[in-house]
Amino acid sequence: MSDQDNKFCFLCRRSEEQCGKLIELPNRIFVCQDCLQKSFDTMSTQFSGGFDLGELLNRFPNVSMVTLGNNPAAERKKAKKPEDSEPGAAFDIRKIPAPHKIKAMLDEYVIGQEHAKKVMSVAVYNHYKRVGSDDKDGIEIEKSNMLMIGPTGSGKTYMVRTLAKLLDVPLAIADATSLTEAGYIGDDIESVVSKLLAAADNDVERAEHGIIFVDEIDKLAKKKNTNQRDVSGEAVQQGMLKLLEGSEIEVPVGASSKNAMVPMAVVNTRNILFICGGAFPDLENIIKERLNKQASIGFYADLKDKYDSDPDLLRKVTVEDLRTFGMIPEFLGRLPMVFTLDGLTEDMLVQILKEPKNAIIRQYQKLLAMDEVKLTFDDEALHAIAQKAMERDAGARGLRAVLEEFMLDIMFEIPKDENIGEVVITRQYIEGNGGPQITLRGQYLQ
Ligand code: ADP
Repeated sequence: MSDQDNKFCFLCRRSEEQCGKLIELPNRIFVCQDCLQKSFDTMSTQFSGGFDLGELLNRFPNVSMVTLGNNPAAERKKAKKPEDSEPGAAFDIRKIPAPHKIKAMLDEYVIGQEHAKKVMSVAVYNHYKRVGSDDKDGIEIEKSNMLMIGPTGSGKTYMVRTLAKLLDVPLAIADATSLTEAGYIGDDIESVVSKLLAAADNDVERAEHGIIFVDEIDKLAKKKNTNQRDVSGEAVQQGMLKLLEGSEIEVPVGASSKNAMVPMAVVNTRNILFICGGAFPDLENIIKERLNKQASIGFYADLKDKYDSDPDLLRKVTVEDLRTFGMIPEFLGRLPMVFTLDGLTEDMLVQILKEPKNAIIRQYQKLLAMDEVKLTFDDEALHAIAQKAMERDAGARGLRAVLEEFMLDIMFEIPKDENIGEVVITRQYIEGNGGPQITLRGQYLQ
């Protein structure tokens, strides 16, 4: 039998006799005119959504005979893609709530922080509009990655968590201090993407529309005025650049470390929203110094104190100040939305205790209500708790700690006695000068 007789189409397996003259490709692979045409048709219709082998194969009559690999799982994954991978398919622009609606939802959970809530709502709205848009007209919307500056316990993590929950997108939270450059001990930078994939139940598509929050980002600042050779923070900033910008990262599925046994998935970070947060201690002094310098021409002495008592000083932060602080310009360039959170006042802390939908005291009330006990807090008691929390200097984070101290006894003792109908927490109790007011069912006792 001559070589000529053995020629058949690589895709449909028909011989030259059956399908006409075959076209020869490199490595002595032949394809018939029909299959070639179908390949082109598929490629041109698939072009905007990416080339899809599964769809291509589906178009061939004898597709079952074509085995191009022996990994059925991989083929399944690819075959599923067309419906999901259309740009914008997962995110319908009309379904993203308008900024004022996002803010109204945040208002139900987050006390104060009006400016931050507004900036975040707009940034998130624009971000997901960007995800749902294409750049066919040559206009590519810039990513709205954010940098949140605010003292510890002012609600940075809480706001991001709330936002992700409201938008129903997966969220991964990482601590910048635990991140290292690839190859060092610790979590390497790409591990945050792996966390996000886990938060998205290993659904790559969902992960690619998620949010990554990197806390304590200020700890990555370049060290100033030291002779130490510690450049790790700066190197991690460098390492994060490509993630922030958008790149394809290979991450292990269902495990935190790469090894030969773990299947890998490729996650593109292009549409992942990155939010970085940090307390940036001393940033106020840098801002003050800059403003004083600017004002120094002429009346320096006059204005020197002016900024000392400026409550909105932090809001005057510029990229220049953050550079002085030690963040590298390329990093800052990839976080275009910079905004600040206010430090919490006593009144805000009291509001945080009682007003949000899932306020801490509501949680305790719900727990005791299950024992049919009514729990109330005197306003004065709430202020006493807020004052104690302020002494701890950990913002609202101190509230739960303070409250837990006092509620432990209550939560332990009350369910013991079925006769108790109501408990009132008083300032005296918080200050250690008395007990709570307890009312028995149908009777009053102190
Ligand atoms: P940060 O990340 O800024 O250090 P967190 O977000 O961890 O602070 O805040 C700690 C806790 O304090 C949150 O879990 C939340 O319950 C509460 N909290 C902080 N700020 C607010 C706020 N503005 N409104 C409601 N709760 C808040």
